[in-house]
Amino acid sequence: MVAAALVAVGVAYVVADDGGRTVLPSPTASSGERQSSGTDAGPGSGGAMPVGLATRTLDRLARALGHGDSVAAAALGAAGDGEAADRLRAAAEAAADARVRGLRWRYVDSLGTPDADGTWWAATEVTWRFAGVDESAATAEVLVGLRTEDGPDGTTVAVVDPAAAAEDTATETTTTRVPVWLSGPVRVRREAGTLLLVATPDGSVDDRAEEAADEEVLAAQVRRARQEARRALAPGERSAAPSLVVEVPADASGVDAALGVSTGTYAAIAAVTAPVDGEDGPVHVLVNPDELGQLRPAGAQVVLTHEAVHALTDAPASLAPLWLVEGYADEVALRDVDLPLSVTSAQVLAEVAQEGLPRALPTTADFGVSSRYLGAAYEAAWTACRVLAARAGEDGLRRVYERTGAGEGLDAVLADVAGWTQRDLVRAWRAELARIADGG
Ligand SMILES: [Zn+2]
Repeated sequence: MVAAALVAVGVAYVVADDGGRTVLPSPTASSGERQSSGTDAGPGSGGAMPVGLATRTLDRLARALGHGDSVAAAALGAAGDGEAADRLRAAAEAAADARVRGLRWRYVDSLGTPDADGTWWAATEVTWRFAGVDESAATAEVLVGLRTEDGPDGTTVAVVDPAAAAEDTATETTTTRVPVWLSGPVRVRREAGTLLLVATPDGSVDDRAEEAADEEVLAAQVRRARQEARRALAPGERSAAPSLVVEVPADASGVDAALGVSTGTYAAIAAVTAPVDGEDGPVHVLVNPDELGQLRPAGAQVVLTHEAVHALTDAPASLAPLWLVEGYADEVALRDVDLPLSVTSAQVLAEVAQEGLPRALPTTADFGVSSRYLGAAYEAAWTACRVLAARAGEDGLRRVYERTGAGEGLDAVLADVAGWTQRDLVRAWRAELARIADGG
Protein backbone atom coordinates (compact mmCIF):
# COMPACT_ATOMS: atom_id res chain seq x y z
CA MET A 1 0.00 0.00 0.00
CA VAL A 2 1.54 3.29 -1.03
CA ALA A 3 0.37 6.70 0.04
CA ALA A 4 -0.87 9.10 -2.63
CA ALA A 5 2.20 9.92 -4.66
CA LEU A 6 2.40 13.66 -4.27
CA VAL A 7 5.90 13.79 -2.92
CA ALA A 8 8.91 11.98 -4.32
CA VAL A 9 9.00 9.15 -1.85
CA GLY A 10 10.47 5.72 -1.79
CA VAL A 11 9.59 4.78 1.77
CA ALA A 12 6.29 4.69 3.59
CA TYR A 13 5.94 4.56 7.34
CA VAL A 14 3.22 2.60 9.00
CA VAL A 15 2.24 3.83 12.43
CA ALA A 16 -0.67 3.11 14.71
CA ASP A 17 -3.21 5.88 14.93
CA ASP A 18 -6.48 5.56 16.80
CA GLY A 19 -6.55 1.84 16.19
CA GLY A 20 -6.33 2.35 12.43
CA ARG A 21 -3.20 2.13 10.35
CA THR A 22 -2.07 5.29 8.70
CA VAL A 23 0.52 5.15 5.97
CA LEU A 24 2.67 8.21 6.21
CA PRO A 25 4.85 9.21 3.30
CA SER A 26 8.50 9.84 3.96
CA PRO A 27 9.09 13.55 3.39
CA THR A 28 12.42 13.16 1.65
CA ALA A 29 13.60 10.17 -0.27
CA SER A 30 17.25 10.63 0.39
CA SER A 31 17.92 12.01 3.84
CA GLY A 32 19.86 9.63 6.01
CA GLU A 33 18.99 6.24 7.42
CA ARG A 34 15.41 5.65 8.35
CA GLN A 35 13.76 3.24 10.69
CA SER A 36 10.59 1.93 9.21
CA SER A 37 9.37 1.10 12.69
CA GLY A 38 9.75 4.75 13.59
CA THR A 39 10.70 3.93 17.15
CA ASP A 40 13.94 5.91 17.41
CA ALA A 41 13.32 9.26 18.92
CA GLY A 42 15.12 12.09 17.17
CA PRO A 43 17.15 14.89 18.68
CA GLY A 44 15.24 17.15 21.00
CA SER A 45 12.21 14.91 21.07
CA GLY A 46 12.89 13.23 24.39
CA GLY A 47 10.02 10.89 23.55
CA ALA A 48 7.47 13.73 23.53
CA MET A 49 6.73 16.15 20.71
CA PRO A 50 7.56 19.81 21.36
CA VAL A 51 3.98 20.93 20.83
CA GLY A 52 4.58 24.53 21.91
CA LEU A 53 7.40 24.95 19.40
CA ALA A 54 5.35 23.30 16.68
CA THR A 55 2.45 25.63 17.38
CA ARG A 56 4.75 28.61 17.07
CA THR A 57 6.11 27.30 13.76
CA LEU A 58 2.60 26.85 12.37
CA ASP A 59 1.71 30.40 13.45
CA ARG A 60 4.75 31.70 11.60
CA LEU A 61 3.90 29.59 8.59
CA ALA A 62 0.35 30.98 8.49
CA ARG A 63 1.70 34.51 8.76
CA ALA A 64 4.30 34.00 6.02
CA LEU A 65 1.78 32.44 3.62
CA GLY A 66 -0.89 35.01 4.53
CA HIS A 67 1.55 37.74 3.46
CA GLY A 68 2.61 35.78 0.39
CA ASP A 69 6.15 36.04 1.77
CA SER A 70 8.07 33.24 0.05
CA VAL A 71 11.37 34.14 1.75
CA ALA A 72 9.88 33.92 5.24
CA ALA A 73 8.04 30.72 4.29
CA ALA A 74 11.16 29.02 2.90
CA ALA A 75 13.09 30.01 6.03
CA LEU A 76 10.77 27.74 8.04
CA GLY A 77 11.97 24.70 6.08
CA ALA A 78 14.16 22.05 7.67
CA ALA A 79 17.92 22.67 7.53
CA GLY A 80 19.49 21.56 4.25
CA ASP A 81 16.15 20.33 2.89
CA GLY A 82 15.83 21.97 -0.51
CA GLU A 83 12.61 20.17 -1.31
CA ALA A 84 10.94 21.52 1.83
CA ALA A 85 12.07 25.06 0.99
CA ASP A 86 10.69 24.68 -2.55
CA ARG A 87 7.31 23.47 -1.26
CA LEU A 88 7.08 26.36 1.20
CA ARG A 89 8.06 28.92 -1.42
CA ALA A 90 5.47 27.50 -3.82
CA ALA A 91 2.81 27.63 -1.09
CA ALA A 92 3.55 31.30 -0.41
CA GLU A 93 3.35 32.12 -4.12
CA ALA A 94 0.08 30.18 -4.48
CA ALA A 95 -1.34 31.96 -1.44
CA ALA A 96 -0.45 35.34 -2.94
CA ASP A 97 -1.81 34.51 -6.41
CA ALA A 98 -5.03 32.91 -5.15
CA ARG A 99 -5.40 35.71 -2.55
CA VAL A 100 -5.63 33.38 0.41
CA ARG A 101 -7.21 35.25 3.33
CA GLY A 102 -8.10 34.44 6.93
CA LEU A 103 -5.37 31.80 7.09
CA ARG A 104 -5.11 30.01 10.43
CA TRP A 105 -3.00 26.93 11.06
CA ARG A 106 -3.82 25.05 14.25
CA TYR A 107 -1.89 22.17 15.75
CA VAL A 108 -4.23 19.26 16.55
CA ASP A 109 -2.21 16.14 17.37
CA SER A 110 1.05 14.37 16.73
CA LEU A 111 1.06 11.03 14.95
CA GLY A 112 3.49 8.24 15.72
CA THR A 113 6.97 8.96 17.03
CA PRO A 114 9.88 10.92 15.53
CA ASP A 115 12.22 9.03 13.26
CA ALA A 116 16.03 8.96 13.49
CA ASP A 117 16.54 12.53 12.25
CA GLY A 118 13.74 13.99 14.36
CA THR A 119 11.07 14.07 11.65
CA TRP A 120 7.51 13.56 12.84
CA TRP A 121 3.98 14.08 11.66
CA ALA A 122 1.29 16.33 13.00
CA ALA A 123 -2.40 16.50 12.25
CA THR A 124 -3.25 20.17 11.85
CA GLU A 125 -6.32 22.20 10.99
CA VAL A 126 -5.99 24.82 8.28
CA THR A 127 -8.60 27.54 7.70
CA TRP A 128 -8.55 29.70 4.57
CA ARG A 129 -10.60 31.24 1.81
CA PHE A 130 -9.82 32.69 -1.61
CA ALA A 131 -10.68 36.40 -1.55
CA GLY A 132 -13.22 37.60 -4.06
CA VAL A 133 -14.62 34.17 -4.92
CA ASP A 134 -15.24 32.16 -1.75
CA GLU A 135 -18.24 33.20 0.29
CA SER A 136 -17.20 31.06 3.26
CA ALA A 137 -13.97 29.74 4.73
CA ALA A 138 -12.73 26.17 4.41
CA THR A 139 -11.38 24.31 7.43
CA ALA A 140 -9.54 21.13 6.53
CA GLU A 141 -7.36 18.67 8.41
CA VAL A 142 -3.88 18.70 6.89
CA LEU A 143 -0.99 16.38 7.68
CA VAL A 144 2.25 18.33 8.21
CA GLY A 145 5.77 16.91 8.31
CA LEU A 146 7.84 18.59 11.04
CA ARG A 147 11.40 18.12 12.25
CA THR A 148 12.81 18.90 15.67
CA GLU A 149 16.23 20.50 15.24
CA ASP A 150 18.88 21.45 17.77
CA GLY A 151 20.78 24.51 16.65
CA PRO A 152 22.78 27.44 18.05
CA ASP A 153 19.51 29.06 19.18
CA GLY A 154 18.36 25.95 21.01
CA THR A 155 15.65 23.54 19.92
CA THR A 156 13.35 24.59 17.07
CA VAL A 157 10.70 22.89 14.96
CA ALA A 158 11.09 23.19 11.18
CA VAL A 159 8.73 22.24 8.38
CA VAL A 160 9.54 19.25 6.18
CA ASP A 161 6.24 19.07 4.28
CA PRO A 162 3.39 21.59 4.61
CA ALA A 163 0.73 19.15 3.33
CA ALA A 164 1.38 15.42 2.94
CA ALA A 165 -0.95 12.75 1.63
CA ALA A 166 -1.86 9.98 4.06
CA GLU A 167 -4.04 7.00 3.66
CA ASP A 168 -5.82 5.09 6.36
CA THR A 169 -5.45 1.55 5.18
CA ALA A 170 -7.73 0.10 7.84
CA THR A 171 -10.87 2.02 6.94
CA GLU A 172 -10.03 2.87 3.33
CA THR A 173 -10.77 6.47 4.16
CA THR A 174 -8.54 9.34 5.06
CA THR A 175 -9.18 12.28 7.27
CA THR A 176 -6.41 14.54 6.04
CA ARG A 177 -6.39 16.49 2.81
CA VAL A 178 -3.83 18.08 0.54
CA PRO A 179 -5.39 21.36 -0.63
CA VAL A 180 -4.31 22.02 -4.22
CA TRP A 181 -2.82 25.40 -3.35
CA LEU A 182 -0.57 23.63 -0.78
CA SER A 183 0.32 20.74 -3.07
CA GLY A 184 3.19 22.35 -4.95
CA PRO A 185 3.61 24.99 -7.67
CA VAL A 186 0.30 26.22 -9.12
CA ARG A 187 -0.69 28.76 -11.73
CA VAL A 188 -3.68 30.93 -10.92
CA ARG A 189 -5.92 32.67 -13.44
CA ARG A 190 -8.53 35.06 -12.18
CA GLU A 191 -11.23 36.45 -14.44
CA ALA A 192 -14.56 38.08 -13.71
CA GLY A 193 -16.57 35.34 -12.00
CA THR A 194 -14.00 32.56 -12.29
CA LEU A 195 -10.81 31.41 -10.60
CA LEU A 196 -8.72 28.65 -12.16
CA LEU A 197 -5.96 26.96 -10.16
CA VAL A 198 -3.70 24.59 -12.09
CA ALA A 199 -0.96 22.53 -10.46
CA THR A 200 2.22 22.82 -12.49
CA PRO A 201 4.64 20.08 -11.49
CA ASP A 202 8.15 20.39 -12.85
CA GLY A 203 8.40 19.85 -16.59
CA SER A 204 10.58 20.64 -19.56
CA VAL A 205 10.31 23.98 -21.38
CA ASP A 206 8.44 22.20 -24.19
CA ASP A 207 6.03 20.72 -21.67
CA ARG A 208 5.46 24.15 -20.23
CA ALA A 209 4.61 25.68 -23.60
CA GLU A 210 2.15 22.87 -24.25
CA GLU A 211 0.69 23.24 -20.77
CA ALA A 212 0.20 26.97 -21.26
CA ALA A 213 -1.74 26.31 -24.49
CA ASP A 214 -3.87 23.66 -22.76
CA GLU A 215 -4.48 26.06 -19.91
CA GLU A 216 -5.67 28.73 -22.33
CA VAL A 217 -8.23 26.27 -23.72
CA LEU A 218 -9.28 25.23 -20.23
CA ALA A 219 -9.69 28.84 -19.10
CA ALA A 220 -12.05 29.48 -22.02
CA GLN A 221 -14.03 26.33 -21.17
CA VAL A 222 -14.32 27.38 -17.52
CA ARG A 223 -15.55 30.82 -18.55
CA ARG A 224 -18.16 29.26 -20.83
CA ALA A 225 -19.13 26.70 -18.17
CA ARG A 226 -20.10 29.45 -15.74
CA GLN A 227 -21.91 31.35 -18.48
CA GLU A 228 -23.99 28.31 -19.42
CA ALA A 229 -24.49 27.12 -15.84
CA ARG A 230 -26.09 30.44 -14.91
CA ARG A 231 -29.14 29.21 -16.84
CA ALA A 232 -29.65 26.75 -14.01
CA LEU A 233 -30.56 29.68 -11.76
CA ALA A 234 -33.80 31.65 -11.63
CA PRO A 235 -33.66 34.53 -14.15
CA GLY A 236 -33.54 37.10 -11.35
CA GLU A 237 -30.51 35.42 -9.74
CA ARG A 238 -28.32 35.02 -12.79
CA SER A 239 -26.60 38.40 -12.64
CA ALA A 240 -25.55 37.69 -9.04
CA ALA A 241 -24.42 34.10 -9.73
CA PRO A 242 -21.64 32.88 -7.44
CA SER A 243 -18.09 32.74 -8.78
CA LEU A 244 -16.86 29.44 -10.18
CA VAL A 245 -13.62 28.04 -8.76
CA VAL A 246 -11.97 25.21 -10.70
CA GLU A 247 -8.91 23.43 -9.29
CA VAL A 248 -6.74 21.09 -11.34
CA PRO A 249 -4.35 18.93 -9.28
CA ALA A 250 -1.30 17.49 -11.02
CA ASP A 251 -2.92 14.09 -11.57
CA ALA A 252 -5.75 11.78 -10.53
CA SER A 253 -4.17 10.97 -7.17
CA GLY A 254 -4.00 14.69 -6.49
CA VAL A 255 -7.80 14.81 -6.78
CA ASP A 256 -8.07 11.99 -4.23
CA ALA A 257 -5.62 13.73 -1.89
CA ALA A 258 -7.43 17.07 -2.18
CA LEU A 259 -10.70 15.38 -1.27
CA GLY A 260 -9.22 13.18 1.47
CA VAL A 261 -10.21 9.86 -0.10
CA SER A 262 -8.27 6.70 -0.92
CA THR A 263 -5.97 6.78 -3.91
CA GLY A 264 -7.79 5.61 -7.00
CA THR A 265 -11.27 6.72 -5.89
CA TYR A 266 -11.59 9.32 -8.63
CA ALA A 267 -9.21 7.69 -11.12
CA ALA A 268 -11.95 7.20 -13.73
CA ILE A 269 -13.89 10.41 -13.02
CA ALA A 270 -13.23 13.50 -15.16
CA ALA A 271 -14.29 16.06 -12.56
CA VAL A 272 -15.97 16.28 -9.18
CA THR A 273 -17.74 19.10 -7.36
CA ALA A 274 -17.47 19.21 -3.59
CA PRO A 275 -16.86 21.44 -0.60
CA VAL A 276 -13.05 21.69 -0.47
CA ASP A 277 -13.07 20.72 3.21
CA GLY A 278 -15.83 18.11 3.03
CA GLU A 279 -17.94 20.20 5.39
CA ASP A 280 -19.49 23.63 5.03
CA GLY A 281 -16.59 25.13 3.11
CA PRO A 282 -16.75 26.64 -0.37
CA VAL A 283 -17.84 24.32 -3.19
CA HIS A 284 -15.22 24.03 -5.93
CA VAL A 285 -14.86 21.91 -9.05
CA LEU A 286 -11.86 19.55 -9.01
CA VAL A 287 -10.70 18.36 -12.40
CA ASN A 288 -8.87 15.08 -12.98
CA PRO A 289 -6.47 16.10 -15.76
CA ASP A 290 -5.74 12.47 -16.66
CA GLU A 291 -9.42 11.93 -17.59
CA LEU A 292 -10.54 15.36 -18.82
CA GLY A 293 -7.52 15.44 -21.12
CA GLN A 294 -8.83 12.32 -22.88
CA LEU A 295 -12.09 13.99 -23.88
CA ARG A 296 -12.70 15.96 -27.03
CA PRO A 297 -13.24 19.70 -26.43
CA ALA A 298 -17.04 19.40 -26.75
CA GLY A 299 -17.10 16.57 -24.21
CA ALA A 300 -14.86 18.44 -21.81
CA GLN A 301 -17.17 21.44 -22.09
CA VAL A 302 -20.21 19.35 -21.16
CA VAL A 303 -18.36 17.95 -18.13
CA LEU A 304 -17.28 21.41 -16.95
CA THR A 305 -20.70 22.96 -17.48
CA HIS A 306 -22.32 20.02 -15.66
CA GLU A 307 -19.99 20.53 -12.69
CA ALA A 308 -20.49 24.30 -12.85
CA VAL A 309 -24.27 23.74 -12.48
CA HIS A 310 -23.51 21.71 -9.33
CA ALA A 311 -21.23 24.45 -8.00
CA LEU A 312 -23.46 27.44 -8.80
CA THR A 313 -26.55 25.76 -7.33
CA ASP A 314 -24.67 24.40 -4.28
CA ALA A 315 -25.69 20.87 -5.28
CA PRO A 316 -23.62 19.13 -2.57
CA ALA A 317 -26.06 20.59 -0.02
CA SER A 318 -29.17 19.79 -2.09
CA LEU A 319 -31.85 17.56 -0.57
CA ALA A 320 -33.27 16.67 -4.01
CA PRO A 321 -33.08 13.03 -5.17
CA LEU A 322 -29.71 12.36 -6.79
CA TRP A 323 -31.23 11.54 -10.21
CA LEU A 324 -32.72 15.05 -10.23
CA VAL A 325 -29.43 16.69 -9.18
CA GLU A 326 -27.46 14.84 -11.87
CA GLY A 327 -30.16 14.98 -14.52
CA TYR A 328 -30.65 18.70 -14.05
CA ALA A 329 -26.93 19.39 -14.42
CA ASP A 330 -26.93 17.43 -17.69
CA GLU A 331 -30.12 19.07 -18.92
CA VAL A 332 -28.48 22.49 -18.55
CA ALA A 333 -25.11 21.31 -19.90
CA LEU A 334 -26.59 19.54 -22.93
CA ARG A 335 -29.20 22.18 -23.82
CA ASP A 336 -27.18 23.58 -26.71
CA VAL A 337 -25.43 20.37 -27.70
CA ASP A 338 -26.62 19.27 -31.09
CA LEU A 339 -26.20 15.50 -30.98
CA PRO A 340 -28.76 12.76 -31.72
CA LEU A 341 -30.27 10.97 -28.72
CA SER A 342 -28.82 7.71 -30.07
CA VAL A 343 -25.43 9.22 -29.12
CA THR A 344 -26.26 11.14 -25.93
CA SER A 345 -28.31 8.20 -24.60
CA ALA A 346 -26.23 5.35 -26.01
CA GLN A 347 -25.41 3.75 -22.66
CA VAL A 348 -28.95 3.71 -21.26
CA LEU A 349 -30.22 2.42 -24.62
CA ALA A 350 -27.69 -0.41 -24.48
CA GLU A 351 -28.98 -1.28 -21.04
CA VAL A 352 -32.60 -1.18 -22.23
CA ALA A 353 -31.70 -3.44 -25.16
CA GLN A 354 -30.10 -5.93 -22.79
CA GLU A 355 -32.42 -5.85 -19.79
CA GLY A 356 -35.60 -4.17 -20.94
CA LEU A 357 -37.04 -0.89 -19.71
CA PRO A 358 -35.97 -0.01 -16.16
CA ARG A 359 -38.79 -0.03 -13.59
CA ALA A 360 -37.52 2.77 -11.37
CA LEU A 361 -35.48 5.93 -11.60
CA PRO A 362 -31.75 5.54 -10.80
CA THR A 363 -30.93 5.22 -7.11
CA THR A 364 -28.11 6.86 -5.19
CA ALA A 365 -26.09 3.63 -5.43
CA ASP A 366 -26.37 3.73 -9.24
CA PHE A 367 -24.32 6.96 -9.13
CA GLY A 368 -21.47 5.49 -7.06
CA VAL A 369 -18.07 5.94 -8.69
CA SER A 370 -17.72 2.16 -8.95
CA SER A 371 -21.26 1.55 -10.24
CA ARG A 372 -21.35 -0.67 -13.30
CA TYR A 373 -24.13 1.39 -14.81
CA LEU A 374 -22.73 4.81 -14.03
CA GLY A 375 -22.98 6.14 -17.57
CA ALA A 376 -26.44 4.67 -18.07
CA ALA A 377 -27.61 6.14 -14.74
CA TYR A 378 -26.62 9.65 -15.84
CA GLU A 379 -28.39 9.28 -19.16
CA ALA A 380 -31.48 7.81 -17.51
CA ALA A 381 -31.56 10.72 -15.05
CA TRP A 382 -31.15 13.23 -17.85
CA THR A 383 -34.01 11.56 -19.76
CA ALA A 384 -36.26 11.93 -16.68
CA CYS A 385 -35.41 15.62 -16.50
CA ARG A 386 -36.06 16.05 -20.22
CA VAL A 387 -39.55 14.56 -19.93
CA LEU A 388 -40.25 16.70 -16.88
CA ALA A 389 -39.09 19.80 -18.78
CA ALA A 390 -41.29 18.78 -21.73
CA ARG A 391 -44.23 18.68 -19.32
CA ALA A 392 -43.55 21.69 -17.07
CA GLY A 393 -41.08 23.74 -19.12
CA GLU A 394 -37.42 24.40 -18.29
CA ASP A 395 -38.59 26.84 -15.66
CA GLY A 396 -40.87 24.21 -14.10
CA LEU A 397 -37.99 21.74 -14.02
CA ARG A 398 -35.85 24.35 -12.27
CA ARG A 399 -38.54 24.94 -9.67
CA VAL A 400 -38.82 21.20 -8.96
CA TYR A 401 -35.01 21.08 -8.59
CA GLU A 402 -34.90 24.09 -6.29
CA ARG A 403 -37.89 23.21 -4.10
CA THR A 404 -36.92 19.56 -3.55
CA GLY A 405 -33.35 20.76 -3.06
CA ALA A 406 -34.61 22.95 -0.22
CA GLY A 407 -36.34 19.97 1.40
CA GLU A 408 -39.89 19.86 -0.01
CA GLY A 409 -41.17 16.41 -0.88
CA LEU A 410 -41.02 15.34 -4.53
CA ASP A 411 -44.69 14.24 -4.58
CA ALA A 412 -46.01 17.60 -3.47
CA VAL A 413 -43.74 19.62 -5.74
CA LEU A 414 -44.42 17.44 -8.80
CA ALA A 415 -48.17 17.77 -8.23
CA ASP A 416 -47.89 21.51 -7.80
CA VAL A 417 -45.52 22.29 -10.67
CA ALA A 418 -46.34 19.57 -13.21
CA GLY A 419 -49.71 18.16 -12.13
CA TRP A 420 -47.99 14.78 -11.97
CA THR A 421 -47.50 11.97 -9.47
CA GLN A 422 -44.14 10.18 -9.34
CA ARG A 423 -45.85 7.30 -11.15
CA ASP A 424 -46.82 9.66 -13.96
CA LEU A 425 -43.21 10.79 -14.20
CA VAL A 426 -41.87 7.23 -14.29
CA ARG A 427 -44.48 6.26 -16.90
CA ALA A 428 -43.54 9.21 -19.14
CA TRP A 429 -39.84 8.48 -18.61
CA ARG A 430 -40.22 4.81 -19.62
CA ALA A 431 -42.30 5.83 -22.66
CA GLU A 432 -39.52 8.21 -23.73
CA LEU A 433 -36.86 5.50 -23.29
CA ALA A 434 -39.02 3.11 -25.36
CA ARG A 435 -39.46 5.80 -28.02
CA ILE A 436 -35.74 6.55 -28.43
CA ALA A 437 -34.90 2.84 -28.23
CA ASP A 438 -37.21 2.45 -31.24
CA GLY A 439 -35.11 4.94 -33.12
CA GLY A 440 -37.08 8.03 -32.02
ZN1 LIG B 1 -22.76 15.48 -11.49
